[in-house]
Amino acid sequence: MAERIETQAIVLQRFAFGESSQVVHLLTRALGRVVVMARGAWRAKNGYEGPLDLLVRGTVSLSLVHGRELALLTGRKVETAYPRLRSDLARHGAACHVLARILHFEPVGAGAGAFPLVDRALEAIETVDRARLPLLLLAFDARLADLHGLRPDVDQCVRCGSPRKLARFVASAGGIVCVACVEQRDEGAAIDARSAALLRDVATTPLRQLPDPPPATLSRARRLLDLHLEWHADALLAAPRARARPSTRRSSRGLR
Ligand SMILES: [Zn+2]
Repeated sequence: MAERIETQAIVLQRFAFGESSQVVHLLTRALGRVVVMARGAWRAKNGYEGPLDLLVRGTVSLSLVHGRELALLTGRKVETAYPRLRSDLARHGAACHVLARILHFEPVGAGAGAFPLVDRALEAIETVDRARLPLLLLAFDARLADLHGLRPDVDQCVRCGSPRKLARFVASAGGIVCVACVEQRDEGAAIDARSAALLRDVATTPLRQLPDPPPATLSRARRLLDLHLEWHADALLAAPRARARPSTRRSSRGLR
């Protein structure tokens, strides 16, 4: 027995299927990432305003059969194609960063939670001052990490809990290690108080309330978060369904 669901969705990936159909990955508000078949999406008459293109948000109707990973797309009404992402190279690049992260970090069937974060990020990428795009992407990545329970610990030593004399950011340890606990085998990057504070603030403070950080602070925080996400990506993909999702409320607010 098929279950019918109507929800908002953003197109993440699409592949041609047969002569006129598409297989499409959608990030939905209700179910997270799902894979759907859009039959006849390339025909002149279809119920999707199709064919489906990347980074378009709409309301979709899905027919789900229990036990099957491929759902059937039965309808779609386009809400926005985020038009400013398509006419500005810097904004388009930022949107591609968001898309790549979601494809990497949101496996099919992982559950809901990422949709509001992605939708707000795309809307913010359309309107934010272009010079603030790198800060916006840092905030997006920090909140995505948070959503998966992977927020880097930057307030205290991850080994002894001391808030003083923090030495290195060690991705495999999940955060900063102090001078007393750092070991020779620890591969990590140097961290300073400003970068640590920025990593904390971008995950919790609305973007519009964040002052512009010095470029060196921003690029160091960027590098640390990249190391952190890279290290955790493998662990996350190995057991995506087992991971508990923390509350998403804090993560999805205030990106603008
Ligand atoms: Zn320590």
